[in-house]
Amino acid sequence: MTLRLALLGSTGSIGTSALEVVRHHPDRLSVATLAAFGSNPDALLRQVEEFRPALLAVRDERAAQTLAGRLPAGTELAVGEEGLLAAATHHVVDRVIAALVGAAGLPPTHAALQAGKDVALANKESLVVAGGLLTRLAAERGAVLLPIDSEHVALHQALRCGEPSEVRRLVLTASGGPFRTRPRDTWASIAPHEALKHPTWSMGAKISIDSATLMNKGLELIEASHLFAVPPERIDVVVHPQSIVHSFVEYRDGSWLAQLSRNDMVFPIQYALSYPERWENRFERLRVEEMGSLVFEPLDEAKFPTVALARQALATADSAPAVMNAANEIAVHAFLAHRIGFTDIVAIVQRVLAAHQPGAIATLDDALEYDRWGREQADAALQRIAR
Ligand code: NAD
Ligand code: MG
Repeated sequence: MTLRLALLGSTGSIGTSALEVVRHHPDRLSVATLAAFGSNPDALLRQVEEFRPALLAVRDERAAQTLAGRLPAGTELAVGEEGLLAAATHHVVDRVIAALVGAAGLPPTHAALQAGKDVALANKESLVVAGGLLTRLAAERGAVLLPIDSEHVALHQALRCGEPSEVRRLVLTASGGPFRTRPRDTWASIAPHEALKHPTWSMGAKISIDSATLMNKGLELIEASHLFAVPPERIDVVVHPQSIVHSFVEYRDGSWLAQLSRNDMVFPIQYALSYPERWENRFERLRVEEMGSLVFEPLDEAKFPTVALARQALATADSAPAVMNAANEIAVHAFLAHRIGFTDIVAIVQRVLAAHQPGAIATLDDALEYDRWGREQADAALQRIAR
């Protein structure tokens, strides 16, 4: 019997790496459903022909029209938000890989957990928007929520060495992004193509920009707090430009546990799909003998205020991280479209957070409402500065 997967976001950076992992383990993994936005219907068609899922879901109507009638027998086509939910909850699915980008990933992740499916989560934004809600739901339904994010996969492994009460703190490693050493006073002129050039990882556009502002590390701090039930004041960040040590757990006796692997997402993805087992593979490995020296340095919080911003949002109320995430998504999008400058991204997030009235998130609708409010406010802030 193979583990039957739903792959949400199959055409993306994580999605295609996940399919690489599936190709390596045909006796253990199979694809039950695929879902993506649909901007590249031909790529989707090739995936369907190779993996023969029972269902393909596309968000975009036009892509659905292009694909209708071209799918092999045995693959059903589903469209829109409903299609996405169908792919996440399909009866033949054992584990869902949530690899959509942004808060758009929240409804299908929520639906998967509600249906009692185990979820391997790359889509950190859904935990940032509604982490309390999702972790409660997983516990209620007996569903396992596993990380795919490399730092969290490292923490998940290091945490297997001790009891929660023995943990002093979690320390996330951060590459520092492309502007770690670039003087702050030159940042206003940063163009999207410069910010997209990540020094150590190849990723989708949105997370690449988040890595340049270090908002990604702020989102990851919130993600870690929800996944491992550790309060924000016991999660720290250290800059590690090589991205080889993926994070640390410091135990109360002064012992540090770290996890290392080559910086390729196939390793954390395979961990999330094989857990609680460990499988052999033929991926190119880390050669410790050739590694040279590893560098660790403190985060410059004056240059990169995003981690502190996220920590504060998490400490404020359920709603603040949701609003922060929404404003960030809008601002990143506007930067990529050349409408605002690089330094405007964080300025917009700060402005929206300052205007926000904190509240609780008890339901998916509450979360979506804060998300909507954050987007609206960010849009308004943007109109005032957009070029
Ligand atoms: P990406 O942009 O490369 O891919 C996104 C995928 O989601 C695509 O398949 C796209 O078609 C689909 N999609 C986007 N919006 C959609 C919508 N509204 N409806 C349906 N499908 C939609 O992104 P990525 O880099 O693969 O990142 C995916 C998630 O994983 C993000 O949350 C990111 O933060 C996280 N993550 C990525 C990496 C990485 O190495 N790329 C590492 C850690 C975490
Ligand atoms: Mg990460």
